[in-house]
Amino acid sequence: MPKYIFVTGGVVSSVGKGITVASIATILKSRQISVSVQKLDPYLNVDPGTISPAQHGEVFVTQDGAETDLDLGNYERFIDINLTAESNVTSGQIYSAVITKERRGDFLGGTIQVVPHVTTEIKERFRKLAQKSQAEMIIIEVGGTVGDIEGQPFLEAIRQMRNDVGRDNVLYIHVTLLPYLTSTQELKTKPTQHSVNELRRIGIQPDIIICRSDYPISEGIRDKISLFCDVSQEAIIPLPTVDTIYEVPLILEEEGLGQLIVDKLSLKAHQTDLSQWQELVRCLKTPREPVNIALVGKYVELKDAYFSVREALRHAALYHDRDINLLWIHSEDLERDGSDAVLRSAQGIVVPGGFGIRGIEGMVRAAAYARNNEIPYLGLCLGMQVMVIEFARYALGSNEPNSTEFDASTPYPVIDLLPDQKDVKNKGGTMRLGNYPCQLLDGSHAAKAYGQSLVYERHRHRFEFNNKFRSQLQEKGMVYSGLSPDGKLIELCELVNHPWMVSCQFHPEFSSRPGRPNPLFRDFIGVAKDILREGAQPSLPLTP
Ligand code: GLN
Repeated sequence: MPKYIFVTGGVVSSVGKGITVASIATILKSRQISVSVQKLDPYLNVDPGTISPAQHGEVFVTQDGAETDLDLGNYERFIDINLTAESNVTSGQIYSAVITKERRGDFLGGTIQVVPHVTTEIKERFRKLAQKSQAEMIIIEVGGTVGDIEGQPFLEAIRQMRNDVGRDNVLYIHVTLLPYLTSTQELKTKPTQHSVNELRRIGIQPDIIICRSDYPISEGIRDKISLFCDVSQEAIIPLPTVDTIYEVPLILEEEGLGQLIVDKLSLKAHQTDLSQWQELVRCLKTPREPVNIALVGKYVELKDAYFSVREALRHAALYHDRDINLLWIHSEDLERDGSDAVLRSAQGIVVPGGFGIRGIEGMVRAAAYARNNEIPYLGLCLGMQVMVIEFARYALGSNEPNSTEFDASTPYPVIDLLPDQKDVKNKGGTMRLGNYPCQLLDGSHAAKAYGQSLVYERHRHRFEFNNKFRSQLQEKGMVYSGLSPDGKLIELCELVNHPWMVSCQFHPEFSSRPGRPNPLFRDFIGVAKDILREGAQPSLPLTP
């Protein structure tokens, strides 16, 4: 029978609860305990696929094609497993399942209520993941903070679990923030006391409290939280802000969290081995020469919108013993300024995914700059479509080539709806999603990067390269380096007369891991690092 750890958040959101959960999973995995993770999102959307990235952050796509919260990306990168749709549950999914059952007549004669119908449906999702993953330990993160209206059914469900599966099989961890008052130069514990009170009010007594803080946490503060929250002093775990997220498992381990969980849940565990993580953090903290990469996107005001892209770039840079200096460029600024000046210091340009016409011309401009100046370019999904539009405008000698997503009446629809998308009316969960195979062209940059001829990567798109234009663009120097095995869909394209301009219709950023960068990102940085930035001097030999 699996055991469960439920992680709640207090005081404020965005204190790194997702990274904390990923790190707890990491330290348990390092003791050879099998783990799986689930995120509960209280909002009423069925999945985040219909929420703007500028509002919600990145939509992470699992191999099996679920559009999920970006925390799943952190879980995958930390514990190095591929999660499935069962790992993200939203209130929207729960209510829609309960209402479908009600309409079908499953509860005939009954009044449908939050307790027990909604909570039973939630607990069903815990068991589904346990069954599917067969993990010994299921770690469940409750999104939002304690006290949110939408989150209450989730909290009630996790409270019931203690009785359902037995006290010894459930652990509650509460992650809070200790704010710092500059005037009195002290950390305050009162908000933590309040959020623990709120938890207790609904019947949950936390077993462990993890305290996030920007400043060191003294023994006195730990004693105070211990006293007021009725949690033993050793179970108050300080988690100060760190330079790199990959350091969090090491800090939690050092504070004794791993052993504490093993003891409290009477787990059979091996000796912990975090040597890989220690090495990773050592490398990350060693100063390395930066590579300037311009990320030209339309949601750059919220950095979380490109979470996996940024991480994949970091993994790739680390492989080459380099650091990433990311230049966040709003594609609309490129349109407004009408100048490429901001791109001049870039050694490589990434155009990531996105939807809708806003900012597209700025991205096209960035692609033109990369092509004309031989700057390495990596296009991700929309970034590939932009590269095709730009190249078609050059190759066909017209300003009109476009995607029908942005110009429905263009005479040159070089990007058009996928055939099976033509009759799709509903927007939610209806794109081409998840893993699909891609056959690589021998000798291409893409094939060299992957070192194999067939790869699987994750997709999330409605539009594709329009085959009517294949030969025209090929004649001018476009190479189709990756195709669907039936040859119908173009998955990867690149340019012949360019050092490295490669784009893919899929999202390689989702499969990148620390210590195992995605091959396209790895080779992109490999070429970019040798590009001389404007104003930089080539290093001269010291001896004549
Ligand atoms: N908007 C484009 C499409 O739907 C690209 C999607 C993306 O970048 N994920 O095909």
